[in-house]
Amino acid sequence: MSEQFNLIACDNCGSSKFATLCEWNDLSRVVQCDRCGLQFVNPMPNKEFLDQLYRKDGEESPYYRNYILERTNRRNSYNKQYHRRLKLIEKYSQGKGKLLDIGCGGGFFLKTAEERGWEPHGIDIVPGFVEFARDELQLKNVNCRSLEELEYKKHFFDVIVLWDLIEHLPHPSNFLKTLNQLLRPDGLLVIWTPNARNSAWLKENWFGYQPLQHLYFFSPGTLNRTLQSTGFRVVYENTNRAKKGFFSSPKNIPYKKPDNPMNKAEKMIHGMKRDLKNFFNPINYISPILDWAGFGFNLYVIGKKTTECPREDP
Ligand SMILES: [Zn+2]
Repeated sequence: MSEQFNLIACDNCGSSKFATLCEWNDLSRVVQCDRCGLQFVNPMPNKEFLDQLYRKDGEESPYYRNYILERTNRRNSYNKQYHRRLKLIEKYSQGKGKLLDIGCGGGFFLKTAEERGWEPHGIDIVPGFVEFARDELQLKNVNCRSLEELEYKKHFFDVIVLWDLIEHLPHPSNFLKTLNQLLRPDGLLVIWTPNARNSAWLKENWFGYQPLQHLYFFSPGTLNRTLQSTGFRVVYENTNRAKKGFFSSPKNIPYKKPDNPMNKAEKMIHGMKRDLKNFFNPINYISPILDWAGFGFNLYVIGKKTTECPREDP
């Protein structure tokens, strides 16, 4: 491996002993810490490499181009999901205040939060998303700058949400300490990330392993430990959609939606075929049990700030 990659110690517990879990042809590798069980990419790419990756992967890629279109077209169904998430957050927060979404994309979640009475703030690295959030959704507190550049006051936020973000960070525990200082006492940190326990049967084929895009793979146990060591107590934990992990494996393709748009009759036939196939697929019956047992694809955790835990940078 080139000098853009370095062997690192565990971000959770500092141990340098780990076992290789998966290895790919490009030599990227996921290891598991012997002491605390955290899974991570090791050797880890350095900052220059990651900056380059995200620049290359920016607004030109089809993912970024389709994102705004898809969210706009399916606004109602995403909205329902956002209301559900916010209802849960409101169950644990004392009232509605300042909410920061890091990696906020086009600001769709923030818009729903605003409609529910929150004061929305957002950050994203893609300039086009920030422009959309500001111009189309009229969200004035959305920025394309880093947390450091924005210089928010200590204890400024009531809630910080990280939807599919923590797995991309090169130093999650340092980052969570920064967030700890931005949150008021009893403030909430909301995390949604692929659950490493869902990888158990698929190994290299697991959808959550996208080494170099994703750097850390948390399970309920390891995320709990990271939160504790950065000043948070877990008040809610859930895993869901176990079958997403199974179905996304090349070995286990679900009933595939045709690429071309369908008319009404075709949609109905497609739906019937899919339901029939699902009816005979055992994963559909096992999936809710796996979710309940903590093996779901998504890990959804809410932590409450209990201790001041500032960063100790050299
Ligand atoms: Zn460890």
